[in-house]
Amino acid sequence: MTHTSLVWFRRDLRLFDHAALHVALTAARSTSQAVLCVFIFDSTLLASLPRVDRRVAFIWESVRELKQALNQVGADLMVRHGDPCALIPALCDELDVATVYANRDTEPAAVERDGRIARSLSALGKDLRLFKDQVIFERDEILTQSGQMYQVFTPYRRAWLNQVNDTVLSSFAVAPHLDQLEKCAPSAMPDLRQIGFDPVDVDYLKPGMSGGETLFEDFCERMQRYHETRDFPAVKGVSYLSVHLRFGTVSIRELARTAIRIGGEGAQTWLSELIWREFYQQLLWHRPDLVTHTFKEKYDAIAFPNNRDHFSAWCAGQTGFPIVDAAQRQLNQTGFMHNRLRMITASFLVKDLLIDWRWGERYFAEKLNDFDLASNNGGWQWAASTGCDAQPYFRIFNPTTQSIRFDPEGQFIRRYCPELAHLDNRQIHAPPLSVENYPAPIVDHATQRVAALRLFKTAE
Ligand SMILES: Cc1cc2nc3c(=O)[nH]c(=O)nc-3n(C[C@H](O)[C@H](O)[C@H](O)COP(=O)(O)OP(=O)(O)OC[C@H]3O[C@@H](n4cnc5c(N)ncnc54)[C@H](O)[C@@H]3O)c2cc1C
Repeated sequence: MTHTSLVWFRRDLRLFDHAALHVALTAARSTSQAVLCVFIFDSTLLASLPRVDRRVAFIWESVRELKQALNQVGADLMVRHGDPCALIPALCDELDVATVYANRDTEPAAVERDGRIARSLSALGKDLRLFKDQVIFERDEILTQSGQMYQVFTPYRRAWLNQVNDTVLSSFAVAPHLDQLEKCAPSAMPDLRQIGFDPVDVDYLKPGMSGGETLFEDFCERMQRYHETRDFPAVKGVSYLSVHLRFGTVSIRELARTAIRIGGEGAQTWLSELIWREFYQQLLWHRPDLVTHTFKEKYDAIAFPNNRDHFSAWCAGQTGFPIVDAAQRQLNQTGFMHNRLRMITASFLVKDLLIDWRWGERYFAEKLNDFDLASNNGGWQWAASTGCDAQPYFRIFNPTTQSIRFDPEGQFIRRYCPELAHLDNRQIHAPPLSVENYPAPIVDHATQRVAALRLFKTAE
């Protein structure tokens, strides 16, 4: 066999239902040629990260599992560390690869990188072929009747549900074609230290395909109750699959198919969340300027006071608002934050502390295991009222009433703010000033609410 194709794994760390791998393997079958696999720890992305990063550890564990799965069928995953813009063309040259297969990533920086690589390969007489894999509908596949992008979620969701069918949900089979993979002995894989990181425990995130499967099986038992449980951070109501969706250790098609099959209010609500993810991805694809600008341009002009001490207190979970502090501490300690808490703490940063949403967006981007540019930007612009289909600026969350409603017994607060654990269910949401080792509120919500309304009015 001659080496003619290379599958480049990126945000798709699994060996089942994989678009690029499926196409590469089936194409190779008709030409009796072999397929090689590679993963690259991208040094240009990793360089800016701290030495301890849960996401890199999650990826490393998931890559290791993928490599082992390939080794079990007599094939291998080459694992490299460097700049893909240089490594991919060099590998193709070295291994006599004519075509590189990969799944599409529509983030602006990834589009730019893939464009560069495609041009380098083309100069060598080789091809980069990209496939839709991480969403059911991408780019401009769902448009309004006048051919415009959707700016409001509900009609987008309706159109998504009208367009979805068995064809777009069907799996890209891999198992029947695995004999097309090049047979080779397992190669060495750089350990975390060799790529510049210290090991960190990510077992609780259940990395890899096996972890994604375990979490999804567990969630399937609970999916029918999702609509009732999803808003309560102390309850195990959500799927915890976001980091797996981010790195492709689960298949979006399998998730959506299962939700449709289970049906009922819980499954439908959960499917809507998967559709939110696609809504934000298409939005960023249409409007790459959102990375730095507000969706509603007039709000770009808002002059946020940006008090640095308040920002530090918010980051550290020391604002004196227990639900906000517990949420921020959960983020700092685990890299996860429940969706309801993301909405509360984002709203608090912008509307109570009057800090530019981009500061919060950047902090989440550093800390979240599931950080995804489109969902994070969309979530922040929603909370800041600057985005498409955002909550109106005059609707401002009250952190204390949110706390009473969504953590009524303070169970979540007690877990992350142990200094408040002794308070009763009423006091825990707004502790008396005498509590030791816990700060007094750094702002007054009622006063800040008026200030936020005034600030946003300047842009109207
Ligand atoms: C300010 C803010 C920032 C956010 N940043 C991110 C981010 O960087 N990465 C990220 O994946 N999600 C982000 N979200 C969306 C949401 O909070 C998380 O997807 C969710 O909490 C992950 O937990 P889960 O997997 O248990 O979700 P579930 O409730 O089980 O939902 C299933 C999946 O649907 C998707 N989803 C759910 N809610 C949303 C949503 N509002 N927008 C887009 N997709 C959604 C996720 O992929 C999620 O895994 C953000 C939300 C806000 C308000």
